[in-house]
Parts: sequence; C-alpha cells; structure tokens
Amino acid sequence: MASVPDNATCIDCGYALRGLSDSVCVECGRAFIPGDETSYQLWEGVYSWRRWARPPTLRTILPIVVLSLWFLNEVSVPGRSLSACFLIVFYVAFMVYGVADFAWRWSACRRDAERASLDRPRRRYGRWRWVVLPIAVASAISLCVVNWPLRMRFALSRAAFEVAQTQLDGAVTLPAGRRWIGLFHVEIRREGRYIYYVTGQTSLMGEGGFGKGTRVEGELSVGEHVAGDWYVVHKRFN
Ligand SMILES: [Zn+2]
Repeated sequence: MASVPDNATCIDCGYALRGLSDSVCVECGRAFIPGDETSYQLWEGVYSWRRWARPPTLRTILPIVVLSLWFLNEVSVPGRSLSACFLIVFYVAFMVYGVADFAWRWSACRRDAERASLDRPRRRYGRWRWVVLPIAVASAISLCVVNWPLRMRFALSRAAFEVAQTQLDGAVTLPAGRRWIGLFHVEIRREGRYIYYVTGQTSLMGEGGFGKGTRVEGELSVGEHVAGDWYVVHKRFN
C-alpha cells in the first residue's frame, strides 16, 4: 500500500493518518486515498476542497432560521416599521449567501462521492442541516402565492376581532392607545362609520391594519382579503 505523507491528517476528525494499515481513518471511519492529496489534509497545507463535502454549518443555519422566523413574523402583520425594511435587506442578502454556500457544498459532495463510497459505516453528523435552507427558501417563495403567515395569525385571532367589532359597533368613543386583540397589537380608529384596527406603518406614506367589510370611508383603501368579511385596509397620511 502506498503511504501517506508524515503530516497527513483526516479531513473530518484531524486524526494523524501516518502508518495506518488500511486507507480508512481509525478514529472516524472516513476513507482516504493514499496517493491522492485531496483526500486527506496536510498538517500545514492548504485545506482540501473536500472539506466542503459536508452539510452547511450551524453558523450558516442558525442565522437563516432566526432571520426566516423573524421575516415570517414580520409579513404576518400588515404594515411594518422602517427598521424592519433594513432588516429585510439583510435577510435577503443572507439568504443569497446561504444558497451559494449550499450549492457549493452540494457540488463538493457530488465530486467527493466516489471516495465517500469507500467509507466504512460511520456516523454522519448534521445531515438534517441539508433541509433547513430548502425549507427557508420554499417558505419565502410560497409567500408570493399567498401570505399564509398573515392568514394563519388572523385565523387564530378572528374570534377576538369579531368580539371587539361587536362591542365597538355603535360605540360613542373608541378606547385609546394600543391593545392586544388576539395575536395582534392594534390601535383602534374610526374613519366615518368604519372601524379599523391599525397594526403598523406600511411606508412613509401611510399605515395598515384590518377592517371588517369593504365599505371604507375617507382616506381608507381596501387591500387583500383575509378571511370572511375581513380585509387588510390602508390609510394614506395626509
Ligand atoms: Zn477521521
């Protein structure tokens, strides 16, 4: 059997490979090819591209999970703050990075497949990390079809909105300040006879929220349908 350089170490676990009788790391079971310097790493050498032939790291996965959850939460509310707009840019940039990282690792795995077939049975760490990015991308793309986070959140809050609407209909004065109705933190306003529930600012130009029915008045306009008689409504600032 051809021998490896004295400073050859296992790519996965760093075990010194010098003097092994088989071309398999005794520590973790990863196979290497003695005559192929890309299949192990040299102690002071340049890292082999084969190091990329493994799932995305937690350093990539965790920010993607956190940013995605934040983003889904953000789009589940009509209207958003200016600071959220900056974070959305950050979210998009990180997703692009995540896709590039994923594609690079995936192609490295394919190129490494022939050597990997020589592996002894071994534990493969973090295989679940392969599915995180596809799920994050799929949930982002699905928003283009229907804003399901908003609908889900409203569905869970609808009973509370119906109660509030019944109580407020015909009321002389509206309660001041913000309050929770279901899962939404809203400010209750009236335009003519139309009562609406402001959840946030949609842009520098106006604010957004929910309203029951389409018979809006004044500066209000009706946006997407949410559930039953309920719609997203917008109001332009004067
Ligand atoms: Zn090893």
